[in-house]
This record gives sequence, C-alpha cells and structure tokens, in this order.
Amino acid sequence: MSIASQPVPAPPHPFADLDRLGDEIAELSAHLDAATARLLTLIREFDARGGWNSGFSSCAAWLGWRVGLDLGAARERVRVARALGALPRLAEALARGELSYAKVRALTRVATSETEARLLAVGRAGTAAQIERIVRGWRRVDRQAEVRQATRQHAERGLHVYPDEDGTVLVRGRLTPEVGALLIRALDAARETLYLRTRTTAGVTAADPAIAPPTRAQQQADALALLAETALHHEIDPGAPGERYQVVVHVDAAVLADPEQPGQSVLEEGGHVSAETSRRLACDVSRVVMRHDDEGRLLEVGARTRTIPPALRRALLHRDRSCRFPGCHARVGEGHHVRHWAQGGPTTLGNLVLLCRRHHHAVHEEGYRVSRGPDGTLDFRRPDGRPLPEVPPTDPVPADPIHTLHAQHAALGLRLHARTACPGWLGERLDLGWALDVLHPRAVGPPTC
Ligand SMILES: [Zn+2]
Ligand SMILES: [Zn+2]
Repeated sequence: MSIASQPVPAPPHPFADLDRLGDEIAELSAHLDAATARLLTLIREFDARGGWNSGFSSCAAWLGWRVGLDLGAARERVRVARALGALPRLAEALARGELSYAKVRALTRVATSETEARLLAVGRAGTAAQIERIVRGWRRVDRQAEVRQATRQHAERGLHVYPDEDGTVLVRGRLTPEVGALLIRALDAARETLYLRTRTTAGVTAADPAIAPPTRAQQQADALALLAETALHHEIDPGAPGERYQVVVHVDAAVLADPEQPGQSVLEEGGHVSAETSRRLACDVSRVVMRHDDEGRLLEVGARTRTIPPALRRALLHRDRSCRFPGCHARVGEGHHVRHWAQGGPTTLGNLVLLCRRHHHAVHEEGYRVSRGPDGTLDFRRPDGRPLPEVPPTDPVPADPIHTLHAQHAALGLRLHARTACPGWLGERLDLGWALDVLHPRAVGPPTC
C-alpha cells in the first residue's frame, strides 16, 4: 500500500468551526443569564427576610463579604433583585435566558408595572447598547416631567393668614414637599417639648376630667405658637450648619464597669438608656466625671476630657482606616475599647479598634464579640460564638459546573440555545426621539438630545 493512496482528512472548515464556537458562547451566556435570574430571586428573598442583618449594614455589604463582589456591583445586584420582585415579565424573560442581565439591569432603572410590557418589547428588539440609550433618554423624560411637577408645586405654594370676625386667626396654605417636611419636623419637636416633657415632669393624669388632655389639633396650634416665639427670640437666625444637638447621659460608674450592677443611666432630658448603650456611648465621648456622696450631693466636678485624645484618635484612624468589622468598609467610625475603660481597659492603640456606628452597636448591644490576639489580629464572633472571618471560605463548586448548569436547566424544562437571546433588531438606525415619544407615557414631544 503506497502512502499516496491513503485518504487525506479534509481540514475543518474554519468558518463553521468559529460559528460553533460563537454558538457555544451564546448558549452558555443564555444559561448564565437564566442562572442569574435564580441568583437574584435568592438574593431578593435573603434581603427581604433580613438574612444579612447578622452584623452587616446592608444586603450589599453581606454580598461583598460572602461572595466577594465589589460594593458597587453588589448594590446593583440587590437593586435589580428588588426591582424584579415587582416586574414579573422582565424577571421571567431573564429566567428563560431571553434577555441578558445587562439589558434587564438597564430596563429595571426605569420600568414600572405600567411600562414593563412596552420596555420588555424594547429589550427583546434592541441591542444592549440601544437599550442603554433608550433608558438614558427615558430618564431624561422622567426628569423633565419631575421638573415640570416641581415647578408647578413651587408656583402653587402659598400661605394665607387672616383674622376671623371674632378676632381668632385662620391659617390655610400649601407648601412644597421639602418645606412641608421641615414644618412637620419643627411642629413635632415643639409638640414634644410642650407635651411629652410636661407629662413626665408634672405627672398630668388623663384620669382627671378637670384637665382634659389637649387634642392633637390643639397641640399643633400650641406648637406653632412656640415656633413663632422661638423664631422671634432668635432673631430668625437658622444657626450654623454644623451645630448639632448634644445628648447628655448621666451614668453611675458602677454601671459602666459592670452592666449587671444596679445603678442609673439617665438621659438629661429624662428617659433611661440601657447599661450596654451607656457603655457604648462612653467608649468614645467627652466626659465630665462628677463625684456624689451617698445622698447624691455633688462633691467634685472634673475637667471635660475626651476618652480618646485627639492625637490617639488620629493614630487610630491612620491604622484602621475604616470600620474593622468583617465586610464593612465604612470610613466614619468611633473608637471602641476592646476592654472597656471603665473595667480598667487602657486607652491605647492596642486596646482600641475603629468601628462604624452600626457595628459599634453590634458589639455592645447585639452580643457580637471582638477580641485582639497577641499578634494584633482581631477575632470577631457572632452572638452564638461562631467566628466571623474577614474573608469567608469559598463554597465547593462541582467538578464540571457548566454540565451541572445544563443539567439543572434541562430539569427545569428550559431549552436554551444559541439564538435564545438574539435581539430582533435587523440593523436599522435607532431614532431615539421617535422611540421615546411612542413608548414613554409622560413624553410631551421629542426630547432635546
Ligand atoms: Zn465600644
Ligand atoms: Zn462597620
């Protein structure tokens, strides 16, 4: 047999080969999108049931810690997951692999139950880039509609104050939402000052028919009077923006050292705080130590000092940079004494750790624990004692994850192929102004691009 007589195998057709490769990419992408829909459903349920509320400030922070997503991507997943809860058509299209996650992500920024069906059709017909443009234009129309509404509300503002025949004064008016919110807050504060405080101090009892408690409307009228008096008293000066309310807490030294001890933690305005709360507040504050004798007479008032002096606080911020609770990167924090100063813990860098307000609360009031090992590493524990590692171990993945995904989708009755997510677009130019005019329910003419 001569060599020349052997059949030569035909070289594989390069285009057919690349087509197959392309089809494989498209099909696997559809599988990944369908799997993403399941992932988003799980995230939505986890979020709604507060599964992340185990020391994390949000579902996104938990995802960042547990799954390793950056915070921006994690927030976006949670946003899309929540939005899809109210947009069943878009959710279903993603679950069937017909709409990519990128398209669904863009469409959920503007879709409402009213516009969902229209936007789904847009998602099916257009490419991802076209949908991005339509969504940007859509938001512009939304903003224009909002601006029109705000302009109208601003124009309709008004307050009429006029005397009635008997000399009383009638008040009637309409305020923009933000001014209205300001007024309601101010009235609430004034009402609280007038009524809640007098109730606790004077001990007015509703049982006494001679002193019937004022109705809500009467309270509001009195609150408005207090607002007017206060405004005139302060020459209508809103004050410096940085001014803040100060909360003064009186705490017995014994309470700080041991929360089980009887003693008092009292807010200056009245009302009690728990011993653990007073320990948290005392972790990083200005303090004035007052000594009383057994009868409560004041013996001595010390100078006001910071529990954490400014230089040490700078060193702490420089070392820790952000909250050290696993998964949290909040930049603003409070200094926490790993061993509380009231129990003899030193105010040194070695005994301090930076925690955001949320996580400072977690370690004082929610049973989370933090300790520092001899090598300086922090050990965070959940209330049940289980460790809370900085980076959780990754979950095992099946040996052939793609095969597993295919098998799972086949079991769900999903028939995904290379054309599942193909847009209906045939290459014609996108006329954005026309598209928005036709699609957007609040459009009033072609938008200016
Ligand atoms: Zn603390
Ligand atoms: Zn934190």
